[in-house]
Amino acid sequence: MAVCDLLLRGGHVIDPKNSVDGIADVAISDSTIQAVGANLNVEAKRSADVSGLYVTPGLIDIHVHVYGGYNGWLFPDQHSLPNGVTTVVDTGGPGWKDIDDCIETIVKPSMTRVYILVNIVGAGMIGSPEQDVTEMIPEKCAEAIRRYPDHCIGAKAAHFGGPGWESAGGALEAARLSDTIAMIDFAPKPTRSYKQLLERMEPGDMHTHLYASHIPLLDDSKKVNDYVWQARERGVLFDTGHGGGSFWFRIAVPAMEQGFPPDTISTDLHKSSRLAPNAVMPATMSKFLAMGMSLQEVIYRSTQRPAEVIRHPELGHLTPGAVADVAVLDMRQGNFGFVDSGKARLPGRHRLECEMTVRAGRIVWDLNGRSRQDWTSAGNYTQLDA
Ligand SMILES: [Zn+2]
Repeated sequence: MAVCDLLLRGGHVIDPKNSVDGIADVAISDSTIQAVGANLNVEAKRSADVSGLYVTPGLIDIHVHVYGGYNGWLFPDQHSLPNGVTTVVDTGGPGWKDIDDCIETIVKPSMTRVYILVNIVGAGMIGSPEQDVTEMIPEKCAEAIRRYPDHCIGAKAAHFGGPGWESAGGALEAARLSDTIAMIDFAPKPTRSYKQLLERMEPGDMHTHLYASHIPLLDDSKKVNDYVWQARERGVLFDTGHGGGSFWFRIAVPAMEQGFPPDTISTDLHKSSRLAPNAVMPATMSKFLAMGMSLQEVIYRSTQRPAEVIRHPELGHLTPGAVADVAVLDMRQGNFGFVDSGKARLPGRHRLECEMTVRAGRIVWDLNGRSRQDWTSAGNYTQLDA
């Protein structure tokens, strides 16, 4: 009989990439997925009964802030791992001047896998220099991205209030120079419109905050603008980026009803979005359930799709041989309510919560100790296990 290090038994596995959607066991050895299937004939060194729960690839949140002081960064592990998130993308915390420091102080010490979108501004998100157009240098941003191909996945533009294209245009140029992607946070001005931005973006580039109140996703009659549809058809991507101010039901609900979901579900997690709107990944995913998106779609847009979008297709699925990043989610049923960035409420019947997280084969979160031995049978124990 085959042997594995960890067996997650009897959960409902949803693995969109492999078209798995049903009761199955997940066997893990060392840091990789060994097998997925119903009633696996495998001997396990440790196992956990996860029946009644959903087992998915580790969640991938492509918009968080773990470096930089603009709105209060949050060190990744304590905010990602308890929420089933095993990979995050810091979106523009560091710029091309402080990328080295970010990698040494945040990326390398974290258990969470952390990728970086390098800010077009030299010093990143540290306040007023973010508006300094002389600090927006595409060549230097591209050089920083190329210097760290294992960590940096593209360029970011954000929070720019000036009349020109130095920020968004600069990030798009840095992405072209480094053969990567750009994520653009955009506030339209009379001199530069949202339509113009989408026309400048290439397939694979992302606009984040699609349901923000300052974005004209909808026209005056609440219809998704034709030029937005055209951008999507051309391959421009739309990311959620919930955040403290960028996710509004009054825009999201009509857009969803017209068949315009985000390509990727993400939190824009930072100090303030962590609080009142509770923009952690399972809560943000639950908001999409409450707006009518199916669970399978929600999982797809939180695992496989973001992995593809950031050009790391080796992540976001449970294929044997893939890294064993796994989320175990409880879908509670009841009378719940969800709050948006405008502090408006939407009722919902389901709430996702993270029960267990496995990162590279290691259990790093186990809310109810499902993988643990009962103390009454453990004798005069010290530390039972890692
Ligand atoms: Zn952000």
